[in-house]
Amino acid sequence: MTNQNMKMGTKAVWAGEKEYLVHGATQVPVVLSVAYNYDDMDEWYDVATGKKKGHIYGRNTNPTVQSFEDKMKALEGSEAATSFSTGMAAISNIFSTFLVPGDRIVSIKDTYGGTNKIFTEFLPRQQIDVVLCETGNHEQIESEVAKGCKILYLETPTNPTVKITDIERMAKAGHEAGALVIVDNTFGTPINQNPLSLGVDLVLHSATKFLGGHADALGGVVCGSQELVEKIYHYREINGATMDPMAAYLTLRGMKTLHLRVRQQCANAMELAKYLQTKDLVEAVYYPGLETHPNHEIAKKQMKDFGGMLSFAVKGGIDTVRDLLPKLQLANRAANLGAVETTVGPARTTSHIECTPEERAAMGIPEGLIRVSCGIEDIDDLIADFEQAFNYVESV
Ligand SMILES: *Cc1c(COP(=O)(O)O)cnc(C)c1O
Repeated sequence: MTNQNMKMGTKAVWAGEKEYLVHGATQVPVVLSVAYNYDDMDEWYDVATGKKKGHIYGRNTNPTVQSFEDKMKALEGSEAATSFSTGMAAISNIFSTFLVPGDRIVSIKDTYGGTNKIFTEFLPRQQIDVVLCETGNHEQIESEVAKGCKILYLETPTNPTVKITDIERMAKAGHEAGALVIVDNTFGTPINQNPLSLGVDLVLHSATKFLGGHADALGGVVCGSQELVEKIYHYREINGATMDPMAAYLTLRGMKTLHLRVRQQCANAMELAKYLQTKDLVEAVYYPGLETHPNHEIAKKQMKDFGGMLSFAVKGGIDTVRDLLPKLQLANRAANLGAVETTVGPARTTSHIECTPEERAAMGIPEGLIRVSCGIEDIDDLIADFEQAFNYVESV
């Protein structure tokens, strides 16, 4: 059976590993060696110049890291993939590969906080013109893209209010303008969403989140055509934002259960979102799986399921958040997401810590907004936990 014929769960378990197994072991080894020995000077030369397959030096390639990249290729259905030390390294290396002074990039206002910082702080000082459109305003993005740009950069669903952008429509708009179209698929995961099959050029992930899934390894990855990925790889091998072999191993191991985890996380998010809608203390619930979500139809069209991320706003703002969150027993109050444990945090402390209260308000992020990354716990226990925490807040 070739990788292409396998379904996602089978790929998550099997793909990308066989070539890297040694000594009859069933698991991919963690190769920590920084360099590789060659007794044959001609063979060394051939590997070093890319004429022959092999490894030379750990900043360039590593077998454990390559196995992770091969599994990602199978899951995103791409020709090539290259990895990074973190998700932010993936994003900044992609920009550094393709953007030069004078270029224009179009994106949305709701990108991940670190990405937004690159847009507002670092790219402008390299004379790169950054245009940030209202997230979900497809007409505005189309009209900005039509004026010409090198990159159209999207993220869907977004952090923390899980807004949705129509990937297929944006890929078409981008290509009509001759732009590279890039999607951050961290929230989507390859299980729920495959942007390459919707026409985009590059898809990237923070492997730190759902891919690894256990909040114990940092990483990033980009998937796309051989031609584009090779250019990014070349920048990364020189720049040095290489994924660590141990992180690659942990991520690879985590990915074997990706489909099971994501399935449970989606189911939990849907149930929790419905439950939260029934609470008096809750002002609004944001989840693309709810029919009340403004882009529910687009989400239904381009996602297989609606993801493990949701957010909700409580009455009483940050004071209610202060009372509510410490009462939860089955949730970490932490900055990460995508882990097997449910993780909660106020937007003002996590995704949008860089903004002033006024800026958050302008972005439609109330001070009482809580982001929830659903874990894989039993949903009855999660709901009971939220119920006792709401009861406590209502009693004080
Ligand atoms: C966390 C995250 C990133 C950055 O990834 P790191 O691994 O933390 O550098 C980028 N995009 C999204 C959507 C994220 O959630």
